[in-house]
Amino acid sequence: MKRIVFLQPVGIVERDILIKLKKDLEWVLKGYINKVKISLEPLELKHSEYDAFRRQYDASKILKRIKQLQRKENGFRILGIIEEDMYVTHLNFVFGIAQSPRGIFITLPQACLISTTRLRESFYRRPKNESLFELRILKEAIHELGHTFGLDHCREECVMRFSNCLSDTDLKPAKFCESCIEILNLNFSYLRRD
Ligand SMILES: [Zn+2]
Ligand SMILES: [Zn+2]
Repeated sequence: MKRIVFLQPVGIVERDILIKLKKDLEWVLKGYINKVKISLEPLELKHSEYDAFRRQYDASKILKRIKQLQRKENGFRILGIIEEDMYVTHLNFVFGIAQSPRGIFITLPQACLISTTRLRESFYRRPKNESLFELRILKEAIHELGHTFGLDHCREECVMRFSNCLSDTDLKPAKFCESCIEILNLNFSYLRRD
């Protein structure tokens, strides 16, 4: 099976962001995936998934729709990307969410989702910084894809460190640590068997 990651815009997402992320992910995840493809049809935003009081979208509901899309595509991984702010129950906001398969289940298609809203300097009323913005998107994308590859949160100098706030994202590197790479290689050995 070809390991293709589909980049799925949810609502309107700047095309340049998707193109940059595609290139960066193909570089960082080479050896694990074959290709990143950008879906041309955006998944529409739904009013029923919007909480007008919180002014945020329900990440779990969107992830569910992304999973349904994936069944049609039969892809390896699908990464949703949304420019709106999102939440899950009990958390004020989330940068992203993902399915976290265990063991052999990593061979099944998995989905994840990231939001770009809080990765922009302008969200914090600071001057625009495009390269910093792109680097943050890359880190969050690798992090959520890492979960879909069976990785948990990690305490090392590693992209799998949990980000509670934006400074946590800025402090972590855009790559996996040695021990996460070991787990990744073990998990991917299930895929190499098919
Ligand atoms: Zn995480
Ligand atoms: Zn790690």
